[in-house]
Amino acid sequence: MPIFQDQKQKNIANFQKAIDEKRYTISKNYDEIGRLYYGQFVDINVDNTKTINSKCDTITKLKDEIEELDVKILREKGLKKCPVCRTENNLSYAFCFKCGARFDDNDSVAAPEAAAPAPAPAPAAKPAEPEEEKAEEPEAEAPAEEKAEE
Ligand SMILES: [Zn+2]
Repeated sequence: MPIFQDQKQKNIANFQKAIDEKRYTISKNYDEIGRLYYGQFVDINVDNTKTINSKCDTITKLKDEIEELDVKILREKGLKKCPVCRTENNLSYAFCFKCGARFDDNDSVAAPEAAAPAPAPAPAAKPAEPEEEKAEEPEAEAPAEEKAEE
């Protein structure tokens, strides 16, 4: 196995370890939130809302960090996730192969239309003023029906 491949595996293992630790911290926070909530459920004089909220914020932050680590692991594997449909794409793709969403990152191959110069506008051949020919049609006179009473 080439050296750089080995380094990749090492990086992935480190990221994975960090993710596992964060997952553990999240589950500990969930436990504490449960305990705090129960504490105020059984005793009307207890208000743990502030602490509960701050633990919820901690969990959100940890989840974001895990998300970032997931991205780093994918990068090591030469992959990235579509921001729209979450499908794993090759790192070099400019658009998601599944849903077509555009990747706004530096890894994507520059889109060809971005590099090409803008085409010169075609010269107007005709003045854009259509002649209005609104010949008013005379009201067709309905033929007088001759009611032949019999
Ligand atoms: Zn997609």
